[in-house]
Amino acid sequence: MARRFVVKLGEDVLRKRSKEVTEFDDKLGSLLDDMTETMILEDGVGLAAPQVGILKRAVVISPNGKDFYEFVNPVILSASGKQICSEGCLSVPNVRGEVERPKKIEVAAQDRHGRKFTFKAEGFFANICCHEFDHLDGILFIDKMITHKKSK
Ligand code: ZN
Repeated sequence: MARRFVVKLGEDVLRKRSKEVTEFDDKLGSLLDDMTETMILEDGVGLAAPQVGILKRAVVISPNGKDFYEFVNPVILSASGKQICSEGCLSVPNVRGEVERPKKIEVAAQDRHGRKFTFKAEGFFANICCHEFDHLDGILFIDKMITHKKSK
C-alpha cells in the first residue's frame, strides 16, 4: 500500500465524470488499497478515486476508522427521508458546511472482484456515501451547501 496525493479544489480532475470500472484486476486492487491507506493517514471517513487523480468509479468509506468498505460502480437505487449534514472534504481544506442529504439509501455496487451486491445505509453512513458518490460525477459538497463556514 502507498499513500497517494490528494487532489485539491481547482484541479480539473475533481470536476470530471469518472468512468465505469470494467477491469477488476490487480491495478484496481492496488488503487483501492492505496485509497484506504490515504484515507486513514489523512484522517478522512471516505475517499473517491478522482480525489487521488484517477477517474474511475471507485470509493472507499470508513465511518468509524474500524470498518472499511469499498464500492465500485456504485448506484443509488432508492433514497428516502432527509437529513442536514455537516460536511467537509479532504479536497476542500478548511471549509465545512451543511448539506441536505437523504436519510436512508439503498446502493447497488460491485466489490474489487466485480461481484455485485446491494447495501442499505442510513444516517452518517448514508451521508458519506452520497458525498463520495457525488465525487464520481464531479460534484463537490460546496456545490450543495446551505450554510458555509471556514473551519480552523
Ligand atoms: Zn469529498
